[in-house]
Amino acid sequence: MKALEASPRAALALRPTPLEAMPRLAAKLGLGSLYVKRDDCTGLGGGGNKTRKLEFLVGEARAQGAQTLLTFGALQSNHARQTAAAAARAGLACHLVLVDLVRDREPAYTTSGNLLLDHLFGAEVTIVDSDAAAALATRRIIEAEQAGGRRVYVIPTGGSNAIGALGYVDCAFELSGQCDALDLALHTVVTAASTTGTLAGLAAGFAAQQREVRIVAVNVYEMDATKLERTFSERLAEITTHLGVEAASIGPVELRHDFLGAGYGIPSAAMREAVELTARAEGLLLDPVYTGKAMAGLIAMARAGELSAGTIFLHTGGVPALFAYREAMGPTS
Ligand SMILES: *Cc1c(COP(=O)(O)O)cnc(C)c1O
Repeated sequence: MKALEASPRAALALRPTPLEAMPRLAAKLGLGSLYVKRDDCTGLGGGGNKTRKLEFLVGEARAQGAQTLLTFGALQSNHARQTAAAAARAGLACHLVLVDLVRDREPAYTTSGNLLLDHLFGAEVTIVDSDAAAALATRRIIEAEQAGGRRVYVIPTGGSNAIGALGYVDCAFELSGQCDALDLALHTVVTAASTTGTLAGLAAGFAAQQREVRIVAVNVYEMDATKLERTFSERLAEITTHLGVEAASIGPVELRHDFLGAGYGIPSAAMREAVELTARAEGLLLDPVYTGKAMAGLIAMARAGELSAGTIFLHTGGVPALFAYREAMGPTS
């Protein structure tokens, strides 16, 4: 599609990512078949969905002549880790402003997982305890970089703006092509949602192809359901305007708010069951913050008869965070 081809893009991801069958998990859930789109295998720095977004964001950063990337996230942000890796690959400096907000975390949360990798990729990490402190730190970093003659490219949380969402418009085309080649009807995609750029990109990408695909997005982020719905509407409006896609052609998107548990980054029993079931049935790793809760949603919906054969789980990555949840995910005895 024209808007995709015309956009500057950095080659960061291994594409296409595999589309695999999960026959043993399907059988356990009473589904005739179940597939996984392996966006945990995008390749860069541990993989995940942010790499597709970063191809377009880094493309634009380069086109603007930036030398430094700056972005935001939680302490265990996969987006921050993939941005740090993308900066290393693109030869750019990287500043991460991480907000320490998750309650009741264990010691590994502040030392291991994504945070350990951010340091390995050479990012400058600033940890703050509020959004106000993040805004102040951001201003200081930009001023210092500019004083040093370096142009800063600021990437929003989750890489979720119209430029980043192009990565998932592209993924919608990629997935359609794979399903067509396998003669697989593309009817339902289940995935996790936080900043909703992935969801908005997918929905716009299917609409651009006039394909009606049901998308089930499991809220893993926002206790206030209305707020997530508003965020999604805004992201969707941005990307449909950017592409010139008719908003009316967007297919059915179901936001599910019943698998978040006690909040963002807080483990739930259903998440743990989903991570274990998937690991033991398929040798496939999920994560405790995003894909574990999304799979908990898929499992509950399959058991309730709300999903049919041929459903596709979009695996958005996040596996490094497993190691920041040693106590929550380790042996119980
Ligand atoms: C960021 C992230 C998501 C959510 O993607 P959004 O576009 O922010 O909604 C899902 N899964 C993982 C592993 C992520 O890191």
